[in-house]
Amino acid sequence: QYRGVNELRRMFLEFFESKGHLAMKSFSLVPHNDNSLLLINSGMAPLKPYFTGQEIPPRKRVTTCQKCIRTGDIENIGKTARHGTFFEMLGNFSFGDYFKTEAIHWTWEFLTDVVGLDPDRLYPSVYLDDDEAFGIWNREIGIPAERIFKFGKEDNFWEHGSGPCGPCSEVYYDRGEAFGCGKPGCTVGCDCDRYIEVWNNVFTQFDNDGHGHYTELEHKNIDTGMGLERLAVVVQGVDSLFTVDTNKALLDRVCELAHTEYQKDHETDVSLRIVTDHVKSCTFMISDGIMPSNEGRGYVLRRLLRRAARHGRKLGIEGRFLAGLSETVIELSKDGYPELEEKQAMIFKVLSEEEEKFNKTIDQGLSILGEMEDEMQKTGNKCLSGANAFKLYDTYGFPLDLTKEILEERGCTVDEDGFAAAMKEQKEKARKARKTTNYMGADVTVYQSIDPSVTTEFIGYDRLTADSRV
Ligand code: ATP
Ligand code: MG
Ligand code: MG
Ligand code: MG
Repeated sequence: QYRGVNELRRMFLEFFESKGHLAMKSFSLVPHNDNSLLLINSGMAPLKPYFTGQEIPPRKRVTTCQKCIRTGDIENIGKTARHGTFFEMLGNFSFGDYFKTEAIHWTWEFLTDVVGLDPDRLYPSVYLDDDEAFGIWNREIGIPAERIFKFGKEDNFWEHGSGPCGPCSEVYYDRGEAFGCGKPGCTVGCDCDRYIEVWNNVFTQFDNDGHGHYTELEHKNIDTGMGLERLAVVVQGVDSLFTVDTNKALLDRVCELAHTEYQKDHETDVSLRIVTDHVKSCTFMISDGIMPSNEGRGYVLRRLLRRAARHGRKLGIEGRFLAGLSETVIELSKDGYPELEEKQAMIFKVLSEEEEKFNKTIDQGLSILGEMEDEMQKTGNKCLSGANAFKLYDTYGFPLDLTKEILEERGCTVDEDGFAAAMKEQKEKARKARKTTNYMGADVTVYQSIDPSVTTEFIGYDRLTADSRV
């Protein structure tokens, strides 16, 4: 049966409400009182104080659909079917209440009974030493031992910096041979898009003090996360995150602007997916008060935005297009996230100004980079110098990862150490003459033209994180 993204979100929350959970609204993408994280990247992240006992949860059982950003996945975007920088994570949480047995049973019940996925396509995995979880899958759910995969710390032990952590049990869905890499030994855990991980159950038993010292938690917790768009991919039987109903509507808009079609040409598809994904991330980030800057999460936003702008260029889209696309994002997601509509005017303004600023230098930057490449080719050099990469950054506003990506498309690399050295040198110079940047590192001159309240709000709203300090 066909089910849309918005319907699946509702089904999940209602299912866990029926199991005694309190459904809470998504938290902001900007972490609150948490210096260990730049952006919220899981359903569990904003709930940390409840896990550690710092704060009392409103109920011992909570369920959420949390907006997430994972910049660690930025290079995967467009290349894999299953990674977005922005996605929504469905989760059910137990704060010292139920544990493994209930969590595993409800995972199975939701996937097979409620959503109706074919049990023969589902494969659980457990942490190597977690005999308890293995036993529940095997004896209680009835999954044959050979269909349960055992993975090590890398995959099946969840931790993110300091805080609560523990062994996981993931559920994979076999999308069929057509999505496989075809290599011998391709099975659950393979990096290709055939067996996609849909759900991760974390059995939070320990607390990590940030230095690798683990202590057993007094109250054991459950923290689960399932990508809403991934669930939609397997339920709807579509090729990727970018073609589930909601994202497809956005992707179609990008195709219209680029006068092209999806799935005609691989390189075009990658650009279409990147623009689709990044516009969504940027729209949500700005709605949560993040402003483009050269530091911290503001720089994450700037990088995503400029990368989207460049792929728009690659697709042949002329002029500014990001604000127009964000209107579609807002239209598609405003029911679940009313802040998008409330902040609509600001979102358009920030996107337009930042895009305009980059548009002034992007074409020139691309042509300079072209000349640098010609030079490299003449001398048989495959690595762009740090000084040149820095020139592109400093004069033309090319973030390093953008330069890297463009060069990679031509089989070349960048001297990143050289870039870092040039950056350091410039920062030292700037430190001596810092007049035009405020203490958050935002380029004040850029935003004066937007709205003075924007920068003020940003400072009041945000918190300094270790790496956003200048
Ligand atoms: P993968 O191994 O596929 O990268 P993960 O193990 O990093 O996923 P978790 O940290 O376990 O993911 O997050 C819980 C769930 O969130 C995953 O099972 C998946 O459904 C979803 N998810 C994780 N990363 C992404 C992403 N970049 N885009 C969309 N969904 C994601
Ligand atoms: Mg991952
Ligand atoms: Mg994984
Ligand atoms: Mg996982």
